[in-house]
Amino acid sequence: MGIIVQKFGGTSVADADKILAAARKAIRTQQQGHQVVMVVSAMGKNTDVLVDLAGQLTSKPPAREMDMLLSTGEQVSVALMAMAINELGSKAVSLTGGQIGIKTDSSHTKARIQSISTERLRKHLDDGHIVIAAGFQGIDEDFNITTLGRGGSDTTAVALAAVLQADACEIYTDVDGVFTTDPRIVAEARKMDRVSHDEILELASMGAGVMHSRSIEFGKKFGVPIHVCNSASFSDEPGTVIDLLPESIDRPVSGVALTKNEAWISLANVPDQPGTMDTLFSKLGGVNVAVDMIVQNVGKGGKAEVSFTVLESDLPATLNAVNDVANELGDIEITSEANVSKVSIVGLGMATQTGVADRMFRAFADEGINILAITTSQIKVSALVRREQAMQALRAVHSEFQLDKPPKDRVSFGDKSAAVQPPSPIDVVARLQRMEDLTIDDIQLDESQGRITVSHVPDTPGIAAEIFEAVAAENIMVDMIVQGTGRDGMANISFTVPKESVSAATEVVRPVAANLECGPVTHDKQIAILSVFGIGIRTHTGVGVRMFQALSRTGINVEMVSSSEMRVNVVVSADRGQAGLKALQAAFDDVIG
Ligand code: ADP
Ligand code: ASP
Ligand code: MG
Repeated sequence: MGIIVQKFGGTSVADADKILAAARKAIRTQQQGHQVVMVVSAMGKNTDVLVDLAGQLTSKPPAREMDMLLSTGEQVSVALMAMAINELGSKAVSLTGGQIGIKTDSSHTKARIQSISTERLRKHLDDGHIVIAAGFQGIDEDFNITTLGRGGSDTTAVALAAVLQADACEIYTDVDGVFTTDPRIVAEARKMDRVSHDEILELASMGAGVMHSRSIEFGKKFGVPIHVCNSASFSDEPGTVIDLLPESIDRPVSGVALTKNEAWISLANVPDQPGTMDTLFSKLGGVNVAVDMIVQNVGKGGKAEVSFTVLESDLPATLNAVNDVANELGDIEITSEANVSKVSIVGLGMATQTGVADRMFRAFADEGINILAITTSQIKVSALVRREQAMQALRAVHSEFQLDKPPKDRVSFGDKSAAVQPPSPIDVVARLQRMEDLTIDDIQLDESQGRITVSHVPDTPGIAAEIFEAVAAENIMVDMIVQGTGRDGMANISFTVPKESVSAATEVVRPVAANLECGPVTHDKQIAILSVFGIGIRTHTGVGVRMFQALSRTGINVEMVSSSEMRVNVVVSADRGQAGLKALQAAFDDVIG
């Protein structure tokens, strides 16, 4: 008899009728011969109500007390759910995170799970109970109640499924599954039959709020099959399966996401030397600000311009930290812009196809949308745009990649290579200790790429589209793209292509750049790309910092950066590639898998 974990989000337990409907689902599953663990969230918007209440008393609630407060929302739901199941004639027991034995670290309001004991859960299951676990909470070693961060019940559910070696983890929510983009923003959004871990990780961290990112990290690490379905569906319609393969292998883009409230910070006059990135990002890591879209424009006269984005809510803390760094690094000029949003296209298919990014840029150009910054990873292109154009930009890319239409070449569900391979029980137990720890899978040196830089790109729509269309027309595979707009309204666009294509790409870009009144186009074959791969690269904000520190200690200057959920890449000069690789291997020695 297998175990099924069923998680019900806030809207799915918002009132007594919904609680009864969820209870019936669990009972039905038990009657089909499974053991059932339910994970429930606070009813409706209850967590928001509690946050608001705290806010009426203080603008700085102590994090410990915030956790004490917020955990009560889930406690209400589990008790009511147990009553509902009893009323319907089945046996149920409700448990808080502490009662189950979900041990976390002590970082209140964003705690990480360290271990989960299964003894009590199994005993209740073997006694025929449906176990109802409070989502999003745990306890630290001093028995303080902790919470995992907003939306964290998904993570509780997948983590419980992992330790119990459940047959499946079903996530019941208020939409039919994972969509190509948020269906509440784009009416044409389409439900996907399946989405890969890597894609949903990128989508979730870029603003697709349907799943808590850390739950997907667990799913991937421990091989848990995840199904996202609508709790209101009577027919148990198949929702979306999250596993190793995407819905379609051929499609370059699977989904698009919007991070609406971003802010852009730009530092000019930064010394272009080893250690600068380390000083800056250690400081930001120290105040727990997650940074994205890092753009370093290749320096002139020993000075560089570094820009990056943070969530708008982190802007004040970021500016404070940056001001401190400015004192350390000398005469730095800081500018910031809050009214910006990030639009990202995500798809496993783009890693092996030419001519993807240029289609995004063309879709924006046709709508007159100016791109303020660009960064990429293997399976994602992010563009920063003005907030008032963000919705229009999201719709434009959704339609450009025809995401409303089902792909023609769907991956079949019978395809064995698509199945998640669960690790052996011994493996899971061995990895249970500190289950949310960072694990680094690999560190690589890539010497196959060269870089092209178009300088002084005017701040008008359509330029990136023209440049990358020209490169795509030659069938040249573009790897990293980085663009940032400087204080003078001028941008540099840098991108990497295979070394053997550098001359061809430079040749096609030169006339285009001249026509568009850009500055000189230069190229550099003497570069190396160092990459660190793992799971949870973004949620463990320290990875970039550790890389910058290791490289700076070895006297290596970081020339370009790009990051994703799965990896951080840095470009360094070719003659320092091997030394950089050694430095990184030593720096991650303790976490390499
Ligand atoms: P729950 O309370 O069940 O955890 P959430 O509100 O956390 O539900 O997540 C569901 C919501 O996520 C949906 O109502 C939808 O608006 C939003 N969402 C954002 N992006 C997507 C997407 N790509 N697919 C599906 N839903 C999405
Ligand atoms: N109730 C918590 C929240 O609203 C956890 C969750 O719903 O996943 O963030
Ligand atoms: Mg949620």
